[in-house]
Amino acid sequence: MARKDDFYNRAKQEGYRARSAYKLRQIDEEFDLFDHGDTVVDLGAAPGGWLQIAAEEVTEAGTVVGVDLQRIDDLDHPHVETVRGDMTEERTRYYLRKALGVDPDPDPDDDAPPVRPVDVVISDMAPNMTGEYQLDHARSIHLCRQALDTALELLKPGGDFVVKVFDGPDLADFRDDVDAEFQYVRAYTPEASRKRSSERYLIARGRTDAPVAEGDRLAVDVTDVGEEGDGIASVDGFTLFVPGAEVGETVEVVVDDVKPRFGFAERVD
Ligand code: SAM
Repeated sequence: MARKDDFYNRAKQEGYRARSAYKLRQIDEEFDLFDHGDTVVDLGAAPGGWLQIAAEEVTEAGTVVGVDLQRIDDLDHPHVETVRGDMTEERTRYYLRKALGVDPDPDPDDDAPPVRPVDVVISDMAPNMTGEYQLDHARSIHLCRQALDTALELLKPGGDFVVKVFDGPDLADFRDDVDAEFQYVRAYTPEASRKRSSERYLIARGRTDAPVAEGDRLAVDVTDVGEEGDGIASVDGFTLFVPGAEVGETVEVVVDDVKPRFGFAERVD
């Protein structure tokens, strides 16, 4: 029997709403995405196979919000909510923020740091396929960029992002843009993806929140010392460890490693 039928039959027997549930199951097994109690946003969530997997994994201690153009039947989980709307429209993003308990209409003049409550953003959004390769690819990339914007707006530092993309000439640029915002990105094709499909999943781990990037050269004030004796400097609230620098010094550094919540820099003066 063809593999697609195996997954289809399994989904029927095991009570999943879509065979795509097994794609997310495999991604989670491979990359260990979800933790008990996580808050997850699922874009392009209808009919709800991924929602079911995410809800199982985060358990009743977690929250999952699904968004789709289509209506999604309610799930038997106390903290799964759904928003019906088009993710390319600001109105839908407003309702998504609301469902997450984030100020849906933040004042642009407010200096308070934005609230980012989400641990994982997953997007299985797909355009209506026309069969015209270039057009389908371009539409897929457009949806991926909406998903990336949402992930950057809502993910905590260290949060993860999974996005479906149809392969094509603009994938490399999109992947570079994702790479710039996360610790690392992998392309992955789960077994449940149909053999001849050009769909891939990008798995981006560890959203970085750094105002600096590896290779940046800058002058920093060392204001503290860490447990290992490294100097500590703060760049717009982001901690940089500078080995060999003393409190009170202003040193010229090159950033050599950026983690989600802190980085390392080598003094070059
Ligand atoms: N992951 C889902 C599951 O396991 O049940 C299947 C998702 S299906 C492959 C792709 C979904 O993306 C469709 O339900 C479609 O309505 C949705 N979609 C496409 N464009 C969208 C958009 N602009 N905003 C919201 N959802 C969109």
